[in-house]
Amino acid sequence: MKIDADFSGGNIIVDAVEGESVRLRQDWSTSSQWWFYWCFRVRGAEGRSLRFHFEDGDVLSAGGACVSGDGIEWRWLGRATEDNTFDYLFAPHEHEVFFAFCPLYTQRHLAQFLEREPGVQCETLCRVENGYELEQLWLESKAGRYLVPFLARTHACETMASFVLEGIFQFWLHDPEGGAWLRSWVDFRAVPLMDKSGVENGEQGKFRIPHDHNRDWTEQPHFAATRAVMQTALSWRGEMALFLDLHCPWIRGGRNSELFFVGIEAPQSEELERFSSLLERSQRGGLRYSVASNIAFGVAWNQGGGHNARRYFQQNFPVRFASTLEVPYALAGGEMMTPQRARAFGHDVARAIALYLQRIDEGGNRLE
Ligand SMILES: [Zn+2]
Repeated sequence: MKIDADFSGGNIIVDAVEGESVRLRQDWSTSSQWWFYWCFRVRGAEGRSLRFHFEDGDVLSAGGACVSGDGIEWRWLGRATEDNTFDYLFAPHEHEVFFAFCPLYTQRHLAQFLEREPGVQCETLCRVENGYELEQLWLESKAGRYLVPFLARTHACETMASFVLEGIFQFWLHDPEGGAWLRSWVDFRAVPLMDKSGVENGEQGKFRIPHDHNRDWTEQPHFAATRAVMQTALSWRGEMALFLDLHCPWIRGGRNSELFFVGIEAPQSEELERFSSLLERSQRGGLRYSVASNIAFGVAWNQGGGHNARRYFQQNFPVRFASTLEVPYALAGGEMMTPQRARAFGHDVARAIALYLQRIDEGGNRLE
């Protein structure tokens, strides 16, 4: 039997294998603080029943561990009775099995998305740390009057946000109503894997040393990705109407088991409220978003500090609002998160963007 993390997104340290028991822990050595992402592969355990013990804190989501035969299709194993432990019975044919904190999303998954959706334009913005290429995605509307940019994975481990981004793009490409209006007037841009090196290397990204990609929006950015986005954003066409940075929250519990926006300062907070209400009223996917779940500015950890992307876009572009959307890893409003449900919620977000921008147009900036 072999246990390893020698693949894109892999992250594990194996301490010991004793009979049918494996002691292991997540690697957070590139972060200044403890974090909980892990992902590993087991080969050659056909027919065996193994118990996996995690030895460095509470690292199981509300859905327990995630399992996959190919790294693409995942299912939740559910919470075990014993903390920080899960059991798995390998079927006789299961030579290779992937386990992870949450469904994996790396360069390989992005490439598959782009193959399925040839309408998405993709270009390389720059090379980042370790030589990886940083992609920029573009959906080009007929008129290009408005522009909505998105970032995802400024924290490398926050994979569920990537499926929401796919859904946002799918809506623009295929929806016959709101999508058709977007295709006429609104460009979407996205940098889908901001911490590309962290995504591929299976790093936490959160609290990266010396600071993470969401604290890098200064006059002298540390990371090539931040510099490239700052530079290219100046050349984007259209009126930048709003900006969304897609994240995943804390591991689980309370608000972390709900979809929510991170509240912003007045007066832009009113625009975020308006947008959030439209989303709440118009959503059709299986996940339920509620305005009441948003964390208001000034509450708990939302004190507005830090050189984050949201603040950078708010201060440097004439956006009506710039906010962060938090997408739970495993449980949202009582429903289990799946890539499919996250994409459906992405459709809801894109529909709300269309409704929000249509209202702005009716308010005096009428389309001809
Ligand atoms: Zn984050």
